[in-house]
Amino acid sequence: MKGPDFGIDPDAVKGFMHPDEGRRLYELARRASALGPCLEIGSYCGKSSLYLGSGCRDGGGLLFTVDHHRGSEEHQPGEAYHDPDLFDSLTGRMDSLPALRHTLHAANLEDVVVPVVARSFSLAKVWTMPLGLVFIDGGHSHAAALADYRGWAPHVVVGGYLVIHDLFDDPAEGGQAPIEIYRLAIASGLFEAAPRTRTLGVLMRQ
Ligand code: SAH
Ligand code: MG
Repeated sequence: MKGPDFGIDPDAVKGFMHPDEGRRLYELARRASALGPCLEIGSYCGKSSLYLGSGCRDGGGLLFTVDHHRGSEEHQPGEAYHDPDLFDSLTGRMDSLPALRHTLHAANLEDVVVPVVARSFSLAKVWTMPLGLVFIDGGHSHAAALADYRGWAPHVVVGGYLVIHDLFDDPAEGGQAPIEIYRLAIASGLFEAAPRTRTLGVLMRQ
């Protein structure tokens, strides 16, 4: 069977998303689009936005993708995931917005994906629109992950999905903040775990 049409090669987009996880994001966004718009925290250069946005397009929906575009701790100069191509010498800050716009333009997704340049928490405070899917892949500190969970999980409609990236059962494999909010969501009784894809946790709102 022919796979989804991403317009461009997802592997050619800078970012942090395994193709298996991307394909799962596509399927979830396509299904969730029947319930409401989808929203992503952590656009970076648009790799996951490409998968989610293609799913929204095929499901007749819309994707909001939220990022301040200044990078997480690990993207700053001197840190492990710093990319000098994304450094804006005018501001002396990281800026991944031009790369995101390039990805959306190349994939012909500009009518489906709405980039929002904002701090996740500032936006969550005023957000009221019910969402079919929320994907959390922003800051990975404990404070940031917890704020994203508290700020965004309440907006997922019944039957919709809360999706969390970078789950590591073993602390030796990676940071524990994402899996901690994943466990909190299950413990709340409001979300039921669906099968994971690699480090991608998928929860359905009950
Ligand atoms: N989903 C992307 C990777 C995201 S990397 C991919 O598929 O490649 C994490 C992103 O979260 C970074 O671009 C960073 O700028 C953003 N971020 C971190 N903390 C944030 C916050 N509080 N509000 C908005 N964006 C944030
Ligand atoms: Mg991630």
